[in-house]
Amino acid sequence: MKTSKEIRKAFLDFFSEKEHQVVKSAPMVVKGDPTLMFTNAGMNQFKDLFLGNEPIKWNRIADTQKCLRVSGKHNDLEEVGLDTYHHTMFEMLGNWSFGDYFKKEAIDWAWEFLVERMGIQAGRLYATVFEGSSDDNLGRDDEAAGFWGKYLPQDRILNGNKKDNFWEMGDTGPCGPCSEIHVDLRPEEEVAKISGRELVNKDHPQVIEIWNLVFIQFNRRANGSLEELPDKHVDTGMGFERLCMVLQGVTSNYDTDIFQNTIAEIGKLSDKKYGDEVKTDIAMRVIADHLRAVAFAIADGQLPSNNKAGYVIRRILRRAVRYGYTFLDFKEAFIYKLVNVLNQTMGEAFPELVSQQTLIEKVIKEEEESFLRTLSTGIKLLDDIVGKAKQNNLDKVGGTDAFVLYDTYGFPLDLTELIARENGLGVDEKGFAVEMEAQKNRSRNAAAQETDDWVEIRKIEKTAFLGYDKLEAEIRISRYRKV
Ligand code: ATP
Ligand code: MG
Ligand code: MG
Ligand code: MG
Repeated sequence: MKTSKEIRKAFLDFFSEKEHQVVKSAPMVVKGDPTLMFTNAGMNQFKDLFLGNEPIKWNRIADTQKCLRVSGKHNDLEEVGLDTYHHTMFEMLGNWSFGDYFKKEAIDWAWEFLVERMGIQAGRLYATVFEGSSDDNLGRDDEAAGFWGKYLPQDRILNGNKKDNFWEMGDTGPCGPCSEIHVDLRPEEEVAKISGRELVNKDHPQVIEIWNLVFIQFNRRANGSLEELPDKHVDTGMGFERLCMVLQGVTSNYDTDIFQNTIAEIGKLSDKKYGDEVKTDIAMRVIADHLRAVAFAIADGQLPSNNKAGYVIRRILRRAVRYGYTFLDFKEAFIYKLVNVLNQTMGEAFPELVSQQTLIEKVIKEEEESFLRTLSTGIKLLDDIVGKAKQNNLDKVGGTDAFVLYDTYGFPLDLTELIARENGLGVDEKGFAVEMEAQKNRSRNAAAQETDDWVEIRKIEKTAFLGYDKLEAEIRISRYRKV
């Protein structure tokens, strides 16, 4: 069996052989881009190359990019742990062509890598191509379908709609059709009974997308029309954990060696076994996943805090703490103890985890302890609220209650929503927002009066910010060093 380390290396080596410059992952935490808090795809760091704002140094690039999908356009948080192939933080393997090769090579090499190099059975693969759209006066991407035809029978080349198979950077700018590769991991007997067109990624947990090849062929003008680009580009993204799942012959990302050690450690610390019970399994998956998101964010210099990116990280961590508390009986801080195991698995590929290990453990431990101080009281309160809501035949937890949980007990709204959902209830989000706004006004007024404290806070923030910039600068410099 190939280890995840070998698989990552095989991908980068393969594209290196095809004359790609292998670069480092950009930071997962994005600074200075008002449109994006976290890197959510491999192409983010190359945005300015596609837009023509930066000169192109290498025409062919490959890397593995640390991504986080918990906010904005891509938010997979609610899937995580319930399914076995969406993570908050994951690695996206990618290869790029900037005005160099196009559809033919992208497809040939994807096939060569998966089937010839890595040995995936051809019969388990499908491809999707863009079906076309009358809005844009575009026909089906027959070109891509033609290249797939060399490898796949027609009934395993499926049409996909604009949502899944047409990529756009924004309302204007570079865009183009995508072609996705899906893999069918169901048992042979089951697959044999089915003819191609019935399935593909339609809610079957074992028929999943692994690789997305985007062909950046057009530019969308301000008036909405498309023009053919003079230089065409390729942007691909493959889920590393999903690839490892396929190659290691398992049917869940969590059964790969990327997560196994962490899950075993959670099992040891909680004295529970993975695979014994649905609820504890979900909790173990959530914790193993969220640990990575939080550790990588801290390694990038983003600490949990009360606003913006910091609050996203805090929310993720508190969610993990609560899963541990409720389903695995962890009444004391424990997540920080998993950092060491995580680093054994991922520290080689991402040395920032190792160099920041002490900080990561310290920050997680403090954050856990601080939340645990109010967690049990908050949970009891919420249980009461839920009980009363049910008694009164209400379908929601009130906004004021959700706000008290947030303000006094440190429950992020999405955590209250999660617990409410487990009890078949919703949460009055509007009511919560009203309370939140009222509190902001109160603190604005208070801040206006306490000028001395305000000056102090700004001084502290400035020091922290300079520290971050330095770290960011170091990451930037190392980013283009060949690995
Ligand atoms: P899906 O349809 O499974 O949600 P996607 O179409 O949103 O995936 P893309 O934006 O095309 O994903 O990203 C490229 C690849 O990254 C996907 O083919 C998949 O293998 C992987 N990927 C996407 N989201 C996640 C995630 N949350 N966790 C792990 N891998 C992911
Ligand atoms: Mg998705
Ligand atoms: Mg998809
Ligand atoms: Mg996709």
